[in-house]
Amino acid sequence: MIDTHCHLQDKQYDGDREQTIARAYDAGLTAMVLVGCDLEDSRRAIEIAKHFSLSASAGIHPHEAKNAPENLTPDFGPLLIERCVVAIGETGLDYYYDHSPREAQARVLRAQLRLARERGLPVIFHQRDAFDDFVAILREEFVPGEMRGVVHCFTGNAEQARTLVGDFDLRLGIGGVVTFSKADALRAAVRAVGIENVVLETDCPYLAPMPMRGRRNEPAYLRHTADKLAEVLAIGFEEIVATTDRNAYTLFGV
Ligand SMILES: [Zn+2]
Ligand SMILES: [Zn+2]
Repeated sequence: MIDTHCHLQDKQYDGDREQTIARAYDAGLTAMVLVGCDLEDSRRAIEIAKHFSLSASAGIHPHEAKNAPENLTPDFGPLLIERCVVAIGETGLDYYYDHSPREAQARVLRAQLRLARERGLPVIFHQRDAFDDFVAILREEFVPGEMRGVVHCFTGNAEQARTLVGDFDLRLGIGGVVTFSKADALRAAVRAVGIENVVLETDCPYLAPMPMRGRRNEPAYLRHTADKLAEVLAIGFEEIVATTDRNAYTLFGV
């Protein structure tokens, strides 16, 4: 079982990071990707990933786009050649919070897409309330077949899921939200594209699945999300894990 999106570099784990990772292995996790949200955070994710033999990504979250340099290569270039770095991101558009001007979000997303293409790295996307603009940028900058990526914390509907998978061959990162009682549209979206297009994630410390909802999330809780997917798709837990593991391996090499 692979957690393709976690933030174990977060300060919330400073007191018990080693124990948290031990609990993850006890729960059946075999790999974890620590996702970076800006330059400093990416450096920290890489440092911790190296220390614990985990994987990491380097990128600029749309929230942080306003502080991004014009040219990303001088800062990010050296990070992307680290052995533990398996992807660029998280990058994308977030119009729900609008913590950065939309033009800045778009500029930094395009820059990361070009860097990903140049380096042959997959992309971890974050998209919230910006689906149409996000897809428009993908149509210009993302080359399916040549490039790979995942839309993390996917919470859209079946039509959006079909567009992302069908038009761009992207994978959907499914996390704790799929266990929430009001997430019927998301569960329908997962049924629409099937487990062969899904990877598992916690996005911890955020979005703990039921029955842990409201607590600090951690990779060990991924099991609850996999359980829910087994129920939603009416297939066995082992098949959920085997298929999503294979998808994560194809995407990131982890
Ligand atoms: Zn995100
Ligand atoms: Zn995240």
